[in-house]
Formats: sequence, structure tokens, C-alpha cells
Amino acid sequence: MPPTCDLLLTNAVVVTMDAQFTIHRGSAVAVTGDAIVAVGPDAAAYQATETIDCGGRVIMPGLVNAHTHVPMTLLRGLADDLRLDVWLMGYMMPVERAFVSPDFVRLGTRLGCAEMIRSGITCFADMYYFEHAIAEATAEAGMRALCTQTVLRFPTPDAGSYEDSLAHAREFIQRWHGHPLIVPGPAPHAPYTCTPEILRACAELAVEFDVPLHIHLAETAQEVDDSRAQHGMPVVPWVKKHGVLDAKVLAAHCVHVDDGEIRALKNANTGVAHNPTSNLKLAAGVAPVARMLALGVDVGIGTDGAASNNDLDMFEEMRLAALVAKGTSGDPTAIPARTALAMATRLGARALHLDHLTGSLEAGKRADLITVDLDRLHNVPAFHRDPTGIYSQIVYAAKSTDVVDVMCNGRWLMRQRQLLTLDETGLRLAARGEATRIDAFLSSREVSVLQKLVAIGGAIEQESFEVQVKAWLPSADRVLSAIESDAVTIVRASHYHQYDTYWSFEDPEQGWLRYREDEFLDDSGAVTGARSRLTLTGRTREDRFGAVLLSRSRYFAPATHSVRFYREYFRPAAERIVDKDRRRWLLAFRGVEFYVHLDRLLAPARDGFFIEVKSRTWSRRDARDKAAVIMDLMALVGASPDDTLSDGYADLAGGEA
Ligand SMILES: [Zn+2]
Repeated sequence: MPPTCDLLLTNAVVVTMDAQFTIHRGSAVAVTGDAIVAVGPDAAAYQATETIDCGGRVIMPGLVNAHTHVPMTLLRGLADDLRLDVWLMGYMMPVERAFVSPDFVRLGTRLGCAEMIRSGITCFADMYYFEHAIAEATAEAGMRALCTQTVLRFPTPDAGSYEDSLAHAREFIQRWHGHPLIVPGPAPHAPYTCTPEILRACAELAVEFDVPLHIHLAETAQEVDDSRAQHGMPVVPWVKKHGVLDAKVLAAHCVHVDDGEIRALKNANTGVAHNPTSNLKLAAGVAPVARMLALGVDVGIGTDGAASNNDLDMFEEMRLAALVAKGTSGDPTAIPARTALAMATRLGARALHLDHLTGSLEAGKRADLITVDLDRLHNVPAFHRDPTGIYSQIVYAAKSTDVVDVMCNGRWLMRQRQLLTLDETGLRLAARGEATRIDAFLSSREVSVLQKLVAIGGAIEQESFEVQVKAWLPSADRVLSAIESDAVTIVRASHYHQYDTYWSFEDPEQGWLRYREDEFLDDSGAVTGARSRLTLTGRTREDRFGAVLLSRSRYFAPATHSVRFYREYFRPAAERIVDKDRRRWLLAFRGVEFYVHLDRLLAPARDGFFIEVKSRTWSRRDARDKAAVIMDLMALVGASPDDTLSDGYADLAGGEA
């Protein structure tokens, strides 16, 4: 009696991608239930309930997309050609805060699964929010996935605090542990978005349930520089110190790692996901993939999210992985086609710690396989002198559209290029609806500098009304002697170096945005500290009392990003820089507290001194009373108010503005 199986796929070139890279020509694969029972000549002996003639096509393992954020298909093409921080903090995160919900991620996941199945992917590693809904949609679509719930140190679309997101991650893992298609895990987003406590707690959670941990590591040179500056060590030792490498880790990127770090990754059995398109598009650099492979690290290939790629096409990623390695090393033998295909299959599965289930065609593994038609015009003729030629065909010439059939866990997801588990037309329609809503949200935000400031968080409305007056002085002598005199009492004095970057916009109604950096100076002029902040000031003046103005400053935010970030994010029409040495006093004069600024302009350089006197106020009547006292103080310091300086440095810096 011959052995029996459910399904026999015959007349195929079976590219097994096993450790020996075995290829069986004119051969077969036998499947029973969810598993492969035999491959090659062993399979030919089977008697099957159903037999399918593959017509000479290739049968190979389903591709493993080692790193993605699958619901981000809905943000595809939303904001491109930007730097990583502006892209992430300026666009992705604000839109995610406003839109990401269980329904959003369910739709984005279905869209992503449809695209991935079409391009021959049967397994992927995801990291996002509401991971439970993603796991559900993935399982319904019939795909295999490592689904990991994001944990961040700041509030996310699905958690108000990191304690909440850790609790979500635990519940998520408990609920999906043991599922036939979904392997759950925690995802501390990256070392720079997590605290040491989060890193340790996630690692302990992963170890407790023996599930993989998914993290972004060493994506940019900036991340490594910051880690060295803040922690005195690069990224890999930092996460190791906090227990991360005790877990079964899948680390995305690892672009900027040295040999010592690569060895540490290897010793910890950490898998790496290489994302060539994403790294190229965000100009993150080129990961030392050949070096990692040479030192024995399991390196898979990922598409990353569709917002940074912009598609989920693993054929394209495989080809790029091979080409980028050659182009940047000057060595055309780096990452040959066979290695690139191994990275997209068996090594990728190892990187996800799922190689006992998928990644190669071997008896006992799950039936995750695809058929590929290599007889299309762009792929003929074929040469058989060198048996590895088939890898060149697949990696350098084949396209994702050459994938004909896709099976995952013994279930057909696509037959003859028809999707069987997802409704493409409905998905297209729903995705267009979501894009319309996001477009409207961003369009309304983009017309207002204030809304853009609020969107990136931390903006505080400062309802600060003040009376103020300004003047130019040829010398500081009378000011200094008046301040030392008995007529005034000094409450506080400080001295600092103030660098202001003023930005103006096409629409003058938007006001001025100022990025201010203060360096505090001691008596000897040495810098003792620094701070930076962002202020948006409207041009409207509330009222005036002679030369004294009643003004209102509108919004400020602690400047948590670089000046370059804000410039690229706000895209001002013009920029002016004012650099000054400022002495500042809080003093009492005739029962009223005033701030006095005495500035020497360093750039643009100007002789003399600029004096500004101001006081907080709360009513028009109070303002009128203080305006009278302010004029007396101006007389005392010998300054005649100059109301042409009404907008202060903004005008001075702007000149014509
Ligand atoms: Zn990513």
C-alpha cells in the first residue's frame, strides 16, 4: 500500500531552500492537513486525494516578510521625501493618534495581507497598535504572522501610558499563545522611545511566555551617537544591559552596528530584519548584511511599513538586498542570489524564531508554499549548465506578479492569481474612503502653524497679557546706574546668550514662530546651562497706551526637537537669526514688578543697546496704571520709547516684514 496524502503537487521544479539548497526538477510536494509530508522523489510515491499538475512551475517556500507595520498600508504615500524624525514625529504619529483604531488596523491589515499574498508572502513579522485586531484579520486572511504589540514611553493610539501598553501586551500574548497561525510577542518600539524599565519589562514578558520580542535597533547614525552621548555606549550593549537580549529577539534594521555588536547579536541568537528599501528611502544607511551573515547572524529581509517603502513586495526587497550589498561594497560577489532568497525564506523564518514551522519545503514543516511561473517573457530563456541559475532567475528577473498560487498552513490563499480569502474590490473602496478622511484632516492642519504646533504635542497656550515698551540706547551706563540706585529693588538678575531663529510664513496672519536657545552665563561669562523653547506669537496688538503696548503672547512649547526638525516640519517662507547677549532683571519699581531686558546685538551686529521693559497684567485698567509707571522707569534709565520697534526683534530680523 503506497502512503497517502491529501494533496500532491506534481510536475514542478521544487526549490526547497533547505540547508543543503536541494532542488528537485520534475518533482512533487505532498501535503496532508496543514503540513508537508514529503518533498521530491519521496513525494512521488504518495497516493493523493487530489493531484495538481503545476505545469513545470517552481514550487518554493512562501516568502517571509521579516519586518513590517502592516496597517500602515493605509498611510502609503501620505508623506514622502522627508527626514525620519519629521516623517515620524511630524506626520505619522499625529495621524496615527487621530485615526488609528481597531477598525483602522483591521482594514489596513486586510489590505496589506491581500498585497502580500499576491506577492508570494505567507508569513510576516508585524509591530503596531491594537495588535489583537491585526492578529484577528491576519488569521482570517489565512496568513502566518509574528504579531507584536507596541510599547512606548509616551501615549499611543491604544494606551494612555506605558503601564497600559505593557498590560495590553501581556493580555494580547496570553490570548493568542498557541494559535496555529499567530505567534504573539511584545514590541518595545526602539531604545530611544523606551525607558530601561520598559525594555526590561518587555524582555521579561517575552521570556515568561517564551515568545519573540520585536524591536527597532540602530536604524540611524543619530540613534547611535545619542546612545553614546547619553549612555556612554552604542545601542546593542545598551539593550543587552537592560535584559533585552535574554529574549528571543527580532531586531529590525541594525544598520549602524560594529563587529563587537554583531557578535553580541550572534551570541544571543538575535535575528535581524534587513529593510533595504526603507533604509534607502529614509537615507538611514546600509546595514552590514554580508558581515552579519559571515559572523553567523540570521538575517531576514523585510519591507518595513508601507509608509516608508511604499509597497510590500518581497521580490523587490530580495533583489535590492543583493544589489545594495554589491553596490556599496564594490564587491559583485557580495550577497549572491541564492543567499538573498535564503534570507527571504529560511533565514527570515529563523530570524523570526519560527523556522520550526516555515521557511523551507521539508517534511514536517507547515505547508507554506507558492508556485512561480518563470516562463514569462522577462524570464526566458533559462540555462541549466549551472544549477544555481534558478536563483538568479527568481531574484534578478522574476516579479511578484509571477506568483501564481499561494498556500499557507495547508490552505490555498490564492489560486491562479485569484485571492480566495479577501475581497480586493471592497478593500480598494474602503481604503480610498480612509484616505479621503486623512486628507481632510491634514489639509486643515497644514493651513495653520498653530495646529501644526499642537499636532506634534507639547504646545501650551500661554494666555500672557503684558504691557511693554522698547527703545534703543547708545550706551548701557544710565540703565546700569539706575538699576543699582535706591529707586529700584532687584528681585532677580541673570545673564545669558540668546540665539533666536525667527520664521515667518506666506500668510502673515500666522504670526512669527521663534526657536529660542538660551545659554546661561555666570559672572565670568562661562556657560552654566542651556534651554530651548518654541513660541508662536500672533501679530495682533490688544491695545496701546501712548508708547506702551498691551500685547498677548499665544503659544509656547518646550523645544524637544532640533531647529532643523522644526524648519523642515513648518517649512517657513523666510528665516531670520538674531544672536544677542542679554542681561535680564526682575525688579520692583514704585510697587510694580517689571522685567528689564538689556540686549547687545551680536548678529546682525548693531551698535548700542536695546532695552525692553515689560510687566504681566490682567486687565485694561491695570495695564493703564502700569503704563504710567513704565514711562517713569523709562525716564529714569534715560530711554525714549520707540514705538516703531513694536514687533521687537521679529521686525528687526525681518527688516521689510
Ligand atoms: Zn519598522
